[in-house]
Amino acid sequence: MYQAPLPQEYTGLDDATVAARIDAARAKLGKKLVILGHHYQRDEIIAHADYRGDSYKLAKDAGSHPEADYIVFCGVHFMAESADILTPENQVVILPNLAAGCSMADMANHFQVRSAWKQISSVLGDIEVGSGQPGPNTVMPVTYINSAANLKAFVGEHGGTVCTSSNARAAVEWAFARAGKVLFFPDQHLGRNTGVAMGIDPDAEMALWDPFKPLGGNTPVKLKAAKILLWKGHCSVHKRFTVEQIEEARREHPGVTVMVHPECELEVVRASDLNGSTEAILKAVTDAPAGTTWAIGTEVNLVKRLAKEQSDKTIFCLDSQICPCATMYRIHPSFLLYALEELVEGRVVNQIKVPEETARWARIALSRMLQIGTASPKD
Ligand code: SF4
Repeated sequence: MYQAPLPQEYTGLDDATVAARIDAARAKLGKKLVILGHHYQRDEIIAHADYRGDSYKLAKDAGSHPEADYIVFCGVHFMAESADILTPENQVVILPNLAAGCSMADMANHFQVRSAWKQISSVLGDIEVGSGQPGPNTVMPVTYINSAANLKAFVGEHGGTVCTSSNARAAVEWAFARAGKVLFFPDQHLGRNTGVAMGIDPDAEMALWDPFKPLGGNTPVKLKAAKILLWKGHCSVHKRFTVEQIEEARREHPGVTVMVHPECELEVVRASDLNGSTEAILKAVTDAPAGTTWAIGTEVNLVKRLAKEQSDKTIFCLDSQICPCATMYRIHPSFLLYALEELVEGRVVNQIKVPEETARWARIALSRMLQIGTASPKD
């Protein structure tokens, strides 16, 4: 989305002035305002957040303040869309910088997914989820929360669910209880890692769907044999982590525990000791005894903050070249300040509003995600 340049008076302010004016604006807005901050945001933003969390936690937090007029979402576009879908009509959701998108979410669009659905249907013959009987050719769509609202709506309309990295396994198990196959988009790695954790063979029982090729680059035989159809999308941040980095961490820090996000490639997840969502990473490190050493494969702002807050442990990012999420980084404090001071003046800027016909089905898919929760029936 297009973001107009900030008014000149907001450019060139020093950090202390920006922070003080944000505090002043928050004080004036009081309970009318809730600020949500994703873990990957920089410290100068997190300092002002009422809640911090991953996509799953913030989706729940967004709906927990019906008294607030404004939800300011310091994250990326699809998160603000989800917050708008899950909050009452009278609440206004604001993304401080409209250019804060997600490159992974952009790897699947509505046209491509509808086309894939049609093509898969032509091969399988019976794509729709029918009477609840999980026949081998029925397909359940599952979208990662990192996707546009119209893809969540597509999933809602076709009986499927949204998932996050916190509940991907529970969501995929939920889907397999209702269909013989799962179409998982847009992140191939989260889908593959989740399937492998459930005992599904990544070579024989998964197929990669390339939206730029007929039949996604597959043969009809491959599509029929696959249990999980994985969309060819990825996160540019988590793709940077490698097995070589893990080997180096183990060489230089004997006894290190390596924990990575499941958006990393399968080989990286296999080479690590643990994998999990950002909330799972936070919990594992926070619960660990003092003196332990952790190499973490996820966004660097979270890792650095964790290292600061858990100073009795040695915590470092697996990628020494530093890997912030470039789009999350677009939420500069000056953008937050501008959005808040406009609210103080009674003006709303950068509202994220999902059209109701899209929101209706997307809400169904998001509600299924929240009902499924995080616990796998097999846990
Ligand atoms: S870290 Fe990756 S998946 Fe998350 S918002 Fe950034 S690009 Fe998207």
